[in-house]
Amino acid sequence: MSFTLFLGIAFCGIVSCALLSYILISYNSRHLFDSSKNRLADYVNGLSYDIERTGFPLGSDTTVSDDLFLLAENYSGRVMVLDNSLRVIFDSYRTKNGLTIVAPEILEGCRNNTHFSCDEEKQTATYVKLISSRSANGENLVFYIRYDVSNELIRSQTSRRYIMLIALSLCIIIFTLAIVLSVAFTRPLRRITRQLESIGNGKIDERLTVHANREVSEMSDSVNRILERSHEMEENRQNFVSDVSHELKTPMTSMKILADALLMSGEELPDMVREFLTDINSEIDRENHIISDLLALARMDRKTDTIHYERTHINETLDVILNRVAPLAESKEVEVVCESYRDIYAEVDEPKIITAITNLVENAILYNRPNGSVYVTLNANMTYFFVTIRDTGYGIAESEIAHIFERFYRVDKDRSRETGGTGLGLAITKEVVNAHGGQIKVYSKINEGTTFSVRIPLAKPVRNGGKG
Ligand code: ADP
Repeated sequence: MSFTLFLGIAFCGIVSCALLSYILISYNSRHLFDSSKNRLADYVNGLSYDIERTGFPLGSDTTVSDDLFLLAENYSGRVMVLDNSLRVIFDSYRTKNGLTIVAPEILEGCRNNTHFSCDEEKQTATYVKLISSRSANGENLVFYIRYDVSNELIRSQTSRRYIMLIALSLCIIIFTLAIVLSVAFTRPLRRITRQLESIGNGKIDERLTVHANREVSEMSDSVNRILERSHEMEENRQNFVSDVSHELKTPMTSMKILADALLMSGEELPDMVREFLTDINSEIDRENHIISDLLALARMDRKTDTIHYERTHINETLDVILNRVAPLAESKEVEVVCESYRDIYAEVDEPKIITAITNLVENAILYNRPNGSVYVTLNANMTYFFVTIRDTGYGIAESEIAHIFERFYRVDKDRSRETGGTGLGLAITKEVVNAHGGQIKVYSKINEGTTFSVRIPLAKPVRNGGKG
């Protein structure tokens, strides 16, 4: 938008500048010879009276010839007077007296009463005017002057140069103004976008603080009201999920104890009853798993679950995770290979990191093929440590990738049910990674496998404010 605004202002400014300078230049050149033409016209008017008075070219009164010589001198040019058969009766150069001249400009001057033309190359102008006879039987004469206009042309070129210079300066000013205005106009919008991105990335308590002008201020206030409303709704939802999970947890625990007690009682139970009780037991386990995950998420949502940062040897943490998933890998006939490039220490909440990475490694095993592999790598730079979990499993379709971190989202419902998952694992992982100020990314190709890469800061993020 900033570029479009810049282009708009620059285009309008430059076009107006070009138009203005064109108008000025053409006005200037159109009226350049006006004053000399007017002076000559007045002169020829006066000349007709003198001709009438002195009987020029006859008679002994030389006033007219003297005036014409003076005029030729003043204009640094050649003055001629021709009779109506175009014979020269006066020539200030005295070379064409008595000759007949049929030049196009003279003919046009006779036809139109007046003619003016300028030869820029020779820096001369030609002015021809018919001198109408004042007496009824007198004949018309033709006044002709070719004079030097170099001064006018220089003046015109100078003013043309000035106009161009002013136009160029104006263009530069408009260009700068266009940049300044487009940046100034779009700066609040860019700040709003940045703040909205940050809110969208999880800082849901933040609000827009851009109040550059009335319109932007009103927009910020409206967006803040919407954010406040959705925040309230989100809080209600979280409270609801948390309350329901809590309410379910107690009866589930009681049911589990009762089912376990019945199974362990040592009483001889009919086979069918024992089978049903075992099924009930595993269903209760599954429900308990979901409730625990939901409660964990609710705690993280409500920020009641602070991150307890502790200096942790991440290589050891990874060993714990791999030992934990080893039985699962064995039962699924999946090989887990781990590679760590150095000893890495980071300030993290170890139990939470274990939960998060375990979810990823378990998924890599569960959504794999028999005899498939899972490659876990650990590396770090100066700021972050990186864990990547790559599997050779079914992969995830591109259209599904955007949703897999949503709660209860499962790509292949049947397969996911088979694996016993809850659809909450990745949501928990993402919450944990975000809470640590980290990032999680997924790359997947269907039928080839999936790679999850996690990036977590080595040091506790300042903004988090969790207990260290
Ligand atoms: P679940 O408990 O169902 O595993 P998750 O939140 O852990 O729930 O995962 C969500 C969905 O993402 C899963 O149901 C599965 O379809 C898909 N998924 C997760 N990890 C992988 C993986 N490594 N390979 C293929 N699909 C995966």
